[in-house]
Parts: sequence; C-alpha cells; structure tokens
Amino acid sequence: GPSGCAPLPVLGWDVTVPLVTGEEVTYAALDYAASAPALQRVWDDVAAYAPYYGSVHRGAGYLSQLSTELFENARRTVAEFLDCRAGDQVVFTRSTTDSLNLLAAALPDDCQVFVFESEHHAALLPWRGARVTFLDAPDSPEQAVRALEDALAARDPSPSSRLLPHSRLRSSGGTPMSRGGPNGPALVCVTGASNVTGELWPVRELAAAAHAHGARIVLDAAQLAPHHAVSLRELDVDWVAFSGHKLYAPFGAGVLAGRADWLREAEPYLAGGGASRKVTRREDGGVEVEWHDSAARHEAGSPNVIGAYAIASACKALGEAGFGALAAREERLIRTVRDGLADVSEVRFLSLFGDAAPRVGVLSFVVDGWNSSHFAAALSAEYGIGVRDGLFCAHPLLRTLLGGDPQDQGECGAPEAAPGETSLNAIRVSFGAGTPDEHVERFVRAVR
Ligand code: PMP
Repeated sequence: GPSGCAPLPVLGWDVTVPLVTGEEVTYAALDYAASAPALQRVWDDVAAYAPYYGSVHRGAGYLSQLSTELFENARRTVAEFLDCRAGDQVVFTRSTTDSLNLLAAALPDDCQVFVFESEHHAALLPWRGARVTFLDAPDSPEQAVRALEDALAARDPSPSSRLLPHSRLRSSGGTPMSRGGPNGPALVCVTGASNVTGELWPVRELAAAAHAHGARIVLDAAQLAPHHAVSLRELDVDWVAFSGHKLYAPFGAGVLAGRADWLREAEPYLAGGGASRKVTRREDGGVEVEWHDSAARHEAGSPNVIGAYAIASACKALGEAGFGALAAREERLIRTVRDGLADVSEVRFLSLFGDAAPRVGVLSFVVDGWNSSHFAAALSAEYGIGVRDGLFCAHPLLRTLLGGDPQDQGECGAPEAAPGETSLNAIRVSFGAGTPDEHVERFVRAVR
C-alpha cells in the first residue's frame, strides 16, 4: 500500500527482507538519489490511461488522437513545471544522460565546453567532438563562480584544452578542433545538486557568469529537480535536463528543455519517422529530407508516451504540493543522520563546500578502517538497509574528495582499509518523499 508524507504518498518498496540472522525486517530504501519510488498519484494516472494508449502523431483513430493530445499536454505540463520561457522547447528523451548527449550532438561547430571535474559522468563525458575545458572541483560556491569567470575570460583561440594536472581526464579533442576564439560559441554544463555530496551549486550566479562572457549554460537537474523548484526563467539557464525515475516517475523517460535555436539548427539526434516532415527521392537516386523544427526533430521513432505522461503527472503533483514541506523534512532527516553520528569519529562525511553547506537529501561518507562496499553489504545483510556504495559515476570527484585513486572495491577479496585509513570508495545515503523516520533512525543505529 502507499506510504509517505502527505500530500506526496509514494507507492512501492514496501517489502520485507530476510537478514543474516533469519529475522525479517521492512526494507529501508535509502538510495533515492539513484532512483525514487513513483508517487501513488503517478501510478494511478498511468493505470487510468494505460487501457487507452496509442501511438502518437500517427493516426486519425480516437485513441491515437487521445494519446497525441496527452503527449502534447505532457510537454506543456513539463514546460510549466520548469517555468519555461516563450519559445523554449521541451524534448522528451530517455534520461538525463540521453538529454545531455542530445545537447552535445546539437552543439554548433567550434563550440567550447566548460565543465567542472566534480560532475556526474553524464555531464562530464558527452562532449565528444567539442573542445572541452575541465575545471578543478571548487572548494566553495564563490570559488566555483570565480573559476568559471576566469576560464571564460581566458577563452583562448588555441585548440589545446586545459587539462587537469592530477586527472586522467583528457580533452575529448576530436574533430573539428576549435578555431572559434573568444567570441565563438561556448557552453557551460553544471549540476544543480551533487549526486555525491548533495550540495547545492550556485546556478544563478554561474548562469550570470556564463552569459556575461557570451556563453550558454545547461543545468544538470537530475538531483536538483526532485528536491527544489527549477525555474529556467529565474535561474536564467539556457537548458535543463532531468530524469523521470529520480523525480517520482517510473523509468524510461527524461527531459531536455530550453532554447530552441541550437536544437532546431542541429541534425536530428536520431534519424527516422516522426522527426522527418517530408522525404523525397532525388533525381540522382538519393533521398532528400526536410526535418521538423519542433521538438519532434529529436524524437524520432514512436515516442514513450506513457513515460512522458508519467513525468507530467509527477510534475503536476510536485508543482501542486510545492517543495517546502519536502525540503524541510529532508533537512530534518539530514540532521538526524549528522547529529546521530556526530560523536562517531570514524565516520567522515564528504563535501566540497563544507559540512554546513546547504544540500538536498543526499549524504556520502567513508568509515575509517572499512571498505565502503563491505560496510554497505553489512548494512543490507544485518539491517535490511539499501544504500549506494562505490564511486557514484563521479570518479574525478571521488578522487579529489578521497585523495587517492578511487577503486570499486566491491569484488570478493578486495582489501579492507587498514585501521585509521579510509576506503577509496564511499557510501551514499539519500532520501525523499516517502522515507519514514524509522528507516533513517535504523540507519544511524546500524552505523553506530
Ligand atoms: N546527473 C546526475 C547529477 C545524476 O545523479 C545522474 C544519475 N545518477 C545523472 C546525471 C544521470 O541520470 P540517468 O542515469 O537517469 O541518465
């Protein structure tokens, strides 16, 4: 049955799991940053629509028409949720990863990309073929803004990227190398909230810095959107990307929303039906294609109408409930963890901006003398608690935070960290709507 805090009950994860002792307990799912359970309302909406779905933009039949209308309404709902500006487009994708790869495929020639090393790999890696400058992880929000300003001011016309001295990251180089110079197109990609530390990034200030230097900015809101209102207009970001499965909708759909021009001018992300307006055979035997200018240009194939509908349902529910109560609850749960473990000297929380920095309901830590993967396995086997362990698809950030070469130490036989030493991977606990206090209290007890 549904659980969670009114007015955002979630459905799912209400399961009993066996412990090594043979005892059974309710599973404590504390990995919302990976995927959140869907809201009860989302499942209800999807269940009500499921018997009627049809292929969109493809038929005069009633169900096809209905699905087309619901799909286009879903686009409008998402646009409202993100407070889009006139002329912005909402493209339905598979996920945040897909959205950022779509934008990467739509970059104008000679575009320079600026990205902090602390990003999730989905934001760090898609920019193949562009000239990329990787910025060191900052130690405060102010320093993030200064570092970006400096990097943008130094945008130089030479084709070599600045490489992180201590990182194995390379400029993705590729072709064509930029000869754009200071006035060529540039894109900044930045997270709204870190998937490792949960810390909030100064998005508005970074957007102002980008625009002051003639660059554009895309916000990776995969972790921010489930916890805070995201307004394209107020933040003044050019694009935003997020995933349905972290925003209390099921898997399979994501969003890229924002300025239409680069998207309209780019080759379609996928070539095929739905993206093409007119296809004709040429005299020379080849094929001539006119592509759509709308979001459909990048949505070739039969769209995931249920996924889009589910995202829109979650957006509506979150928009109506507002984020105030959810954020206050998450803050309280963060305090439960921090206060409950304050006197456990072996536990070290990870942060770039300091332990007191504002964050969403995501905390990562290491435990002296423990391999984090073994620690997480013990939380599961002995307490029925599900957390994430490892490197969180953010290897350069983990390297900076842990000061060594991070390793996925989950395999059998991986060495324990020596007493007094920290593991070179970490443990992440995260929560949101539907997390009962008891789960977080049990987690604190288990770690103690
Ligand atoms: N960015 C951030 C900050 C994330 O936390 C994640 C998911 N862990 C992604 C991007 C990628 O999201 P998805 O796996 O849904 O594409």
